[in-house]
Amino acid sequence: MRMHLKPEATGTGLTSQRVRDRLVERLRANGIADERVLNAIRTVPRHLFVDEVLGTRAYEDTALPIGHGQTISQPWVVARMTEALLQAGPKKVLEVGTGSGYQAAVLAALGLEVHTVERIGELLRIARKRFRQLGITVRSKHDDGRAGWPENGPFDAIIVTAAAPALVDALKAQLVPGGVLVAPVGPSAGQSLLQLRHEFDGRFEEQVLAPVVFVPLLSGTVD
Ligand code: SAH
Repeated sequence: MRMHLKPEATGTGLTSQRVRDRLVERLRANGIADERVLNAIRTVPRHLFVDEVLGTRAYEDTALPIGHGQTISQPWVVARMTEALLQAGPKKVLEVGTGSGYQAAVLAALGLEVHTVERIGELLRIARKRFRQLGITVRSKHDDGRAGWPENGPFDAIIVTAAAPALVDALKAQLVPGGVLVAPVGPSAGQSLLQLRHEFDGRFEEQVLAPVVFVPLLSGTVD
């Protein structure tokens, strides 16, 4: 793993390595099989991506609030989406919805070139600070990610971490042939996690991975 983490990332008590290992074993028991993904989850200190008062809950397999009505996704969902993305054998990845920065950090820990877009300026500022403190390289911008990041595209894989009623065409257009897009699609009450593969003949092959519940993909930006 490429990450060289600072000492505070090691954790103590309820954020210790033993507690993290327990989360990894739970993910394994729940069907996450890719050792690269399990290793990344083991390495990235999730407790540093939530408010300090929630730090002791960071290695439970649950989503947690990060302010502005948003959440850091449940570890199993992060792991499942990451597994799906790796099927494209990607180098360059786009994430829509940086949020806490945790998913982006997991992708960076896998050695991927990560580009991430967040519409809430304050969340992005906090995420960037975490990337800096942990020595993680992630390219990020404050924008409406429904437009993707055309100047930096195309991407080998795209991960959308907020829910929309339908797949966004602008994102599909920034996916290389052979690339994979993973996104929660459906009504706000609950969605299907879709994996979309851009076939070499131009078609998009769709597969439903799991039922999920994400916060909504919204338009425009806020400070
Ligand atoms: N991947 C995040 C999950 C954050 S929740 C993590 O690991 O913590 C979803 C995030 O998507 C929120 O921060 C929300 O502000 C953001 N979001 C919603 N609509 C967006 C859009 N159109 N463009 C960019 N980000 C968006």
